[in-house]
Amino acid sequence: MPELPEVESLRSLLDRSVAGRTIVGGRIGKKPLRRRVTRDFIADVKGRRIERVARRAKYLLIELSGGLVIVAHLGMSGSITHRDAVAGSFGLDPKHDHAEFALDNGTRLVFNDPRRFGILRLMDRASLSTLKELSALGPEPLGSDFTADYLADKARGRKVAIKNLLMDQRIVAGVGNIYASEILLRAGVRPTRRSARVTRAEIERIAKAVPQVLGEAIEGRGTTFRNYLDSRGEPGRFATKLLVYGREGESCVKCGTPIRRVIVGQRASFYCPKCQR
Ligand SMILES: [Zn+2]
Repeated sequence: MPELPEVESLRSLLDRSVAGRTIVGGRIGKKPLRRRVTRDFIADVKGRRIERVARRAKYLLIELSGGLVIVAHLGMSGSITHRDAVAGSFGLDPKHDHAEFALDNGTRLVFNDPRRFGILRLMDRASLSTLKELSALGPEPLGSDFTADYLADKARGRKVAIKNLLMDQRIVAGVGNIYASEILLRAGVRPTRRSARVTRAEIERIAKAVPQVLGEAIEGRGTTFRNYLDSRGEPGRFATKLLVYGREGESCVKCGTPIRRVIVGQRASFYCPKCQR
């Protein structure tokens, strides 16, 4: 599943490659995504200019002229690629391409999703805040609203494991399983600790590690996933080195102690028993 750094890397690539282009046509596949793509989608977007590609949590917001916005979520296995219109390859991959937008320079934007957990919706920008999926989200982990005071307030009195608190999208939007483990290694806090028992000093280290770890991953263009393609249709690169996630039994990069694996909230979590308390 693409995590926030991958989505942000994709957003940035798409913004650079398609902002300013006009949608001149397109096609929508027949198989439904998690929600059915509305039939007049193409008629509604045709002739509109892509003003910019923004992001909220893991939702890509392709802002169009005239106040419309394409809301896209990659789900488990989705990708959006910006492809050249190579002769013979134009047209939907009947199995996995769900939408294709032809642009005025002969290129096309393709939304592909083999497992069909993604979302593709067309909305008025003004009504975006009413979208249930977006309105329930907590602050952006890279934004100024996400502070130690805020996190301390949310952790107070909570029995839930600190890792689950960080992964709760209502608390902070866009921290997934992989980076939650990395953040807690950086902060020196075990993923299983009850939120209420995490000290103020530890909360401050976590609040600092969240934007650091995600920011470094974005700079490194995100982690690699089998299904993840960047907007040029290339697989993401192993630019980000994960220090703890997926490294059970391997030596901790800081102290050499073997990394342990534990299940927290049904998700695999990794930690160093010496560096994380
Ligand atoms: Zn260690």
